[in-house]
Amino acid sequence: MMATGTNRAQLLGGKTIAAAIKREVAAKVEQFKQQTGTRPTLAAVLVGDDPASAVYVRNKVQACEEVGISSELNRLSKSTTTDELLEVVAGLNARDNVDGILVQLPLPEQVNDAVIIEAIDPAKDVDAFHPTNVGLLAMGRPRFVPCTPAGIIELLDRNRIEIAGANACVVGRSQIVGRPVASLLLQRHATVTICHSKTRDLPAVTRQADILIAAIGRPAFIRGEFIKPGAVVIDVGVNRITDVKQAREFFTEDAAKRVEAIEKRGSTLVGDVHPSEADRVAGWRTPVPGGVGLLTVAMLMRNTLQAAERRRGK
Ligand code: NAP
Repeated sequence: MMATGTNRAQLLGGKTIAAAIKREVAAKVEQFKQQTGTRPTLAAVLVGDDPASAVYVRNKVQACEEVGISSELNRLSKSTTTDELLEVVAGLNARDNVDGILVQLPLPEQVNDAVIIEAIDPAKDVDAFHPTNVGLLAMGRPRFVPCTPAGIIELLDRNRIEIAGANACVVGRSQIVGRPVASLLLQRHATVTICHSKTRDLPAVTRQADILIAAIGRPAFIRGEFIKPGAVVIDVGVNRITDVKQAREFFTEDAAKRVEAIEKRGSTLVGDVHPSEADRVAGWRTPVPGGVGLLTVAMLMRNTLQAAERRRGK
């Protein structure tokens, strides 16, 4: 499909697919409970009082309730040291009734996050950030797949978007999104280009992409001229904007709603893709909010179930 002229890109919402994945997980959790007499358990660790992190963790705990996974939230003060957090992780590693461990990132700056990630038992590493799990994924035989990249692949698959043979371009090379999603796309036989802040003439590169994935962290950075007509645009970015003028420029149809959100709550969310410009060029676009983020949480539920199944030989 090509969205040119008066056409608009079709929205690839995450809500229906996330709900379907959660239903599938819930059914398997019930089966697991009948077989083992226990429920899979996720232990989340939240260090400090960053409001965005608190919301993310709350959504994850709530999703556990929805699918029947037990969860616990370990809250630690923002002055927690690396050693103190290591002790908490060691305790969770040792507990047989904990299947998945999630340490919400980012951690306060005094904590060495690499040391913490490496301390998590790889068999309980449901975020898939441990070097063992990263290595397995890079070798093409993943144990756990990081949640956001896994969610992106589900979104493409369940919308019957063909990955094999497509030109896929990933803007961003972070450990949690850019690199693993590029790895997954390559395993699915896409021709993959990874871009970053040193890429020359970025729009010329991204314009080659049938599937364009933006994981940058800059509001509305991907403009219309970056997009090949008819492309599938996956917007991973979650950026908070507070400027009413910007909201009017980025959003067309729901600009009034966004302006109202800024006036009432002080901010609104925008992705890394300029929504109104993308809508004039792309074939498909994921909305922010309501797109990739919903899939991320659903995939965490799936990883936690898988961790429990593997640990108990199911
Ligand atoms: P990150 O670690 O900050 O990485 C950003 C990447 O973007 C880097 O590789 C950087 O390049 C690249 N970049 C920055 N400026 C650029 C430019 N001008 N041109 C080209 N590339 C540029 O970010 P992240 O953790 O991957 O997150 C990216 C976004 O996704 C954020 O908005 C985050 O909030 C969001 N996110 C959403 C979800 C979800 O579930 N929806 C999950 C995770 C993250 P260099 O490597 O050269 O610096």
